[in-house]
Amino acid sequence: MNEAEKTACISPVRLGYGSQFKFKCKPGVSCFTLCCRGIHIILTPYDIIRMKNRLGLSSREFLALYTQPHLLEKTDLPMVTLKLLDDERESCPFVKDKKGCIIYTDRPTSCRYYPLGVATLQHKEGADDDGFFFFINEPHCKGFEEDADWTVAKWREDQGVDLRDEINREWTDLVVRKRSFPPNIKLTEKAKQMFFLVSYDIDKFREFVFDTSFLKRVDVDGSTVEKIRRDEIELLKFGLKWLKGALFKQTDPEQQAANFADKGFPT
Ligand code: SF4
Ligand code: SF4
Repeated sequence: MNEAEKTACISPVRLGYGSQFKFKCKPGVSCFTLCCRGIHIILTPYDIIRMKNRLGLSSREFLALYTQPHLLEKTDLPMVTLKLLDDERESCPFVKDKKGCIIYTDRPTSCRYYPLGVATLQHKEGADDDGFFFFINEPHCKGFEEDADWTVAKWREDQGVDLRDEINREWTDLVVRKRSFPPNIKLTEKAKQMFFLVSYDIDKFREFVFDTSFLKRVDVDGSTVEKIRRDEIELLKFGLKWLKGALFKQTDPEQQAANFADKGFPT
């Protein structure tokens, strides 16, 4: 499916948490695994932690083997997508014809949302109290023909999206804020590197925190240090908060923009 065909699958109807729909996906449907080919999956920070741990890889190894770097439209922020196989169908590396997804319990957030899409990143902060979701109506997907009732809220809970959105909240917020900056405000290479490090390369970020002068330069209380030493989700949350503070600590928009010119990062 080319980009124009993919865009044509997106329903223009805006859905909120209470919107209702019928859908069921199960092994044995004639379209089984078709949705795992020719796709564009943006990976969130928590997706990467789950997947690299599932595969027994470091974050650096996972990034090198399974991802493709991009710049996120209208933000100039680096992001990564799942690298598809170079086969005829551009398959996800984790899909098998008969078994389906071989990392199912650790599949990325976008796969969990499907057949819904989420427009959070298109959105102004505070404007999405009722959410902003839409259907991805791919013609091959038979799931809409099944008789199982959902609301968007129930679907998110059932698919484990709530938990993921909570862990990624600071990251999403950071991206949304950057999107609201004038397009002429560009990130320095260093700011992009730091965003990439914290967001996607958690093992390298751990080294940055514990094996450099970071903890001498940044005031972090003892219990937090212990927590982030033991728990990589806490390390991720800490890193995203720190990054956000470093980039947005001024309230004046002009000053905030200037922070992207490299202020706030330890060297
Ligand atoms: S990660 Fe799993 S669910 Fe997602 S596209 Fe790949 S095979 Fe499909
Ligand atoms: S195309 Fe739809 S029904 Fe078919 S496997 Fe994918 S999600 Fe399930």
